[in-house]
Amino acid sequence: MTGVVAEAASVRGWRYWQVSPRRRLRSVAQRHVEWQPGRPVNAICLTGGHPAPSVNCSCGVSAASDLETLRQHGLCVLPGGLVVGEVDLWGRVVDEPYGYRAQHALPASLAIVEGTVDEDEQESLEQALRAYGVALTGIALEDAVAGTTAAMLSFQLMSSQASRSGDRWVPERVDGWVPEREESAAPPLGDG
Ligand SMILES: [Zn+2]
Repeated sequence: MTGVVAEAASVRGWRYWQVSPRRRLRSVAQRHVEWQPGRPVNAICLTGGHPAPSVNCSCGVSAASDLETLRQHGLCVLPGGLVVGEVDLWGRVVDEPYGYRAQHALPASLAIVEGTVDEDEQESLEQALRAYGVALTGIALEDAVAGTTAAMLSFQLMSSQASRSGDRWVPERVDGWVPEREESAAPPLGDG
């Protein structure tokens, strides 16, 4: 069924989010896309001029079919708070080998990835994320991301703590992370 566009009633997928400076969910691949509590994200195609998603494009909100697939395909090695969770997808939906690209999306459950948020920020983040009105839990780093990524995130967290305690070294972006790109070349789990 890969590549077929269907009008789906609703499918459920998994994805990562980062936390924006004002503690909202933010897309990992499209960092300017903030997910507003209680409001669906509606995909548009920036370059294709067609309804999103389309088969021969990378537009749409991406989600993996399950957590294990997300762990294998998801790119999430930016420093900072990381959230993983389920997302309801509907409207136009394109099947992908990893899961789906969809027209509309709304978070269905959220889990803060342990170790990616400083202890003194944990409580305020939990409070902020409750605005989304879905189940909120925590998940161990090694359960949420694949091994190599977990090691990188652990290192980044240690580094950022060191920099605040007097060490002036500031971690940079990790090679391998693909920043926002144009429509035709989005990473596997990006949002168009
Ligand atoms: Zn498109």
